[in-house]
Amino acid sequence: MKKMSATGLLKLRPNVVKSFFRTYKASGIPELTQVRHNVKRGNYATLEGKDIAFFESIVGKNHLVQDDLQGYNVDFMRSVRGSSQLVLRPSSTQEVSAILKYCNERKLAVCPQGGNTGLVGGSVPVCDEIVLSLARLDKILHIDEITGIAACEAGCILENLDLKARELGLVVPLDLGAKSSCHIGGNVSTNAGGLRVLRYGNLHGSVLGVEAVLANGDVLDLMSDFKKDNTGYHLKHLFIGSEGTLGVVTKVSMLCAPQSQAQHVAFLGLSSFDDVLKTFRDSRQFLGEILSSCELIDANSLDASVNHFKLNSPIEGYPFYMLIETSGSNAEHDMEKFNRFLENGMEKGQIIDGTITGEVGKMQEIWKLRELVPVALIEDGFCFKYDISLPLREFYHIVEVMQERVGNLATRVCGYGHLGDSNLHLNICCQEFTQEIYKCIEPFVYEYTSQVKGSISAEHGIGFLKKNYLKYSKSPAAISKMRELKQLLDPNSILNPYKVLN
Ligand SMILES: Cc1cc2nc3c(=O)[nH]c(=O)nc-3n(C[C@H](O)[C@H](O)[C@H](O)COP(=O)(O)OP(=O)(O)OC[C@H]3O[C@@H](n4cnc5c(N)ncnc54)[C@H](O)[C@@H]3O)c2cc1C
Repeated sequence: MKKMSATGLLKLRPNVVKSFFRTYKASGIPELTQVRHNVKRGNYATLEGKDIAFFESIVGKNHLVQDDLQGYNVDFMRSVRGSSQLVLRPSSTQEVSAILKYCNERKLAVCPQGGNTGLVGGSVPVCDEIVLSLARLDKILHIDEITGIAACEAGCILENLDLKARELGLVVPLDLGAKSSCHIGGNVSTNAGGLRVLRYGNLHGSVLGVEAVLANGDVLDLMSDFKKDNTGYHLKHLFIGSEGTLGVVTKVSMLCAPQSQAQHVAFLGLSSFDDVLKTFRDSRQFLGEILSSCELIDANSLDASVNHFKLNSPIEGYPFYMLIETSGSNAEHDMEKFNRFLENGMEKGQIIDGTITGEVGKMQEIWKLRELVPVALIEDGFCFKYDISLPLREFYHIVEVMQERVGNLATRVCGYGHLGDSNLHLNICCQEFTQEIYKCIEPFVYEYTSQVKGSISAEHGIGFLKKNYLKYSKSPAAISKMRELKQLLDPNSILNPYKVLN
């Protein structure tokens, strides 16, 4: 075990993902979603001159975009492409409200869009929906350093809110590889999980309130500055994870956590998945309350980020790697605990090799190996991406099953993800999308997940790409109630049509 350095406070990671996003948007145009997936356009009105004139009167000429819309029509994964002719960039709740009221009356379909980092085809239009970009609602409203409560507009970039919170000794209880581009509103609308759910839980717990605009333009003010508020139905939860189908989130308040004083990261090499499971179990026992992240990376995933981004991995040659992070308040005490855990794992032969550090730069280097995997995989050509919850004992088996099943059709089959939350990212890469490989993978992957009582979406959501498979994770009765809710809140179905529900 190489001990790399002394402890330091974790600062933000470098903006590798952000620079990727800038260059990425210009490259790669997938087939139109309507064509690839044979989608019949819904019975919506089509844009007319009078509509453009109205929208211009609301957002102004400069924030009504009609040219060069590829960045709004194509998703991050280059897996779906809409044909929207219009992007609206409102700057206030009132503008969002006026736009939706008008669209509802005219039956014009709308696709709310945050940072467009979503991975299930939910953030871009399927046909010609108007894109409603929340990017200009980007203000941080307040952060209370005593209570830790932060409020911001929906278009605030996650990293910007986190930076501001850190100035006050706080952290946003959500962290993911897309943090430099994704919006808080997008995070809430997808109930984003990320790297620290193990520590902070998901957004249903840390979001205290939202403001949302309904399809008819009504503004629902559910903002709250309290953890405890048992006054009737908790409507805010309807907007957490409903992917823009029930309302447009315009403001969010959430509880930030105190920033940890000491952080350590270990990167471990293991020779079997059984050893991975035992090491996870031991990490919970030995590290207890300071355990803040437990991630798995298999050899094929590590190979993608190392080779594509020319990174150096401190250890190599193992089938499995684990990234384990602790966040506590006493560096010496935490390091002692960490060392006991590592010694135990090595004595039992579960951990073969590894490295541990508390030095900021070196922790960032290790995190990059994990966080750049999803970005690197796209470079293989086309990537079928699955984000599933599985019982831990079954966690990795599906990767091997899929390797066998797709054989030479794939260039890479790999698994990585949030082991600590039973959340696997299964990825199947190939040179380009073909119906042959698509049909070889789906619906098999969902049937398999359902058979082991997993969830077909652990954190990315249903969006467009998984809507036909919702039935594998929700009962007919539950889906029927979801439809009733949709009908109640959006009777004309103008909000993000073709997504979540069939
Ligand atoms: C490199 C990378 C790593 C990622 N890692 C993770 C991860 O660890 N965990 C995770 O959960 N996700 C992850 N994601 C997926 C993605 O970042 C999250 O789903 C994120 O929350 C999306 O936010 P966004 O602002 O980009 O939303 P978008 O992609 O723009 O939209 C996502 C969905 O939310 C809706 N929406 C957006 N804003 C609003 C709003 N204000 N009101 C109503 N609806 C809205 C859209 O219509 C769409 O359905 C990752 C993505 C990338 C590219």
